[in-house]
Amino acid sequence: MECEEIMERFLELDNGEGLPGEIAGHLETCPRCAAQVAAFARFTESCAAYADFAPQRDIAAGVMARIARAGEEDSPWESDLPLSMVNWIGSGLVLLVGMLLIPFSGMLQQLVRDMPSLGIALPIALGLIIAIYAALFTGSHIETLSRFLRLR
Ligand SMILES: [Zn+2]
Repeated sequence: MECEEIMERFLELDNGEGLPGEIAGHLETCPRCAAQVAAFARFTESCAAYADFAPQRDIAAGVMARIARAGEEDSPWESDLPLSMVNWIGSGLVLLVGMLLIPFSGMLQQLVRDMPSLGIALPIALGLIIAIYAALFTGSHIETLSRFLRLR
């Protein structure tokens, strides 16, 4: 039997359960597995001191009250989003420049010529993209914007 298989079978045993003959035989001949089993035994003994540990007072009520309070205080709009203002403005500029360059795109003009309905759908899609960007930006920076515009 391989060492790994022996250790798996050893770990499946309950604490205090006697070692089956195969495992005991392997431990007598394999110093590496014997050292691991000895380390497990020392660890289990060191944990025994905490087996009857009980907290001095019941902390559950206090912890649950703090969790409830934390849930009320955290607004999803006031949380610190990982995207910085520089990234927001940078992506907004990329969006704007991309839209300004659309009239110069020969491929897009060809597409509009081939599918005239695209001439209507494209401005609608661009308007939606701008509206979504503006809504996300405003929603995630409401504190900064209200301070900037002196609304507070
Ligand atoms: Zn072994």
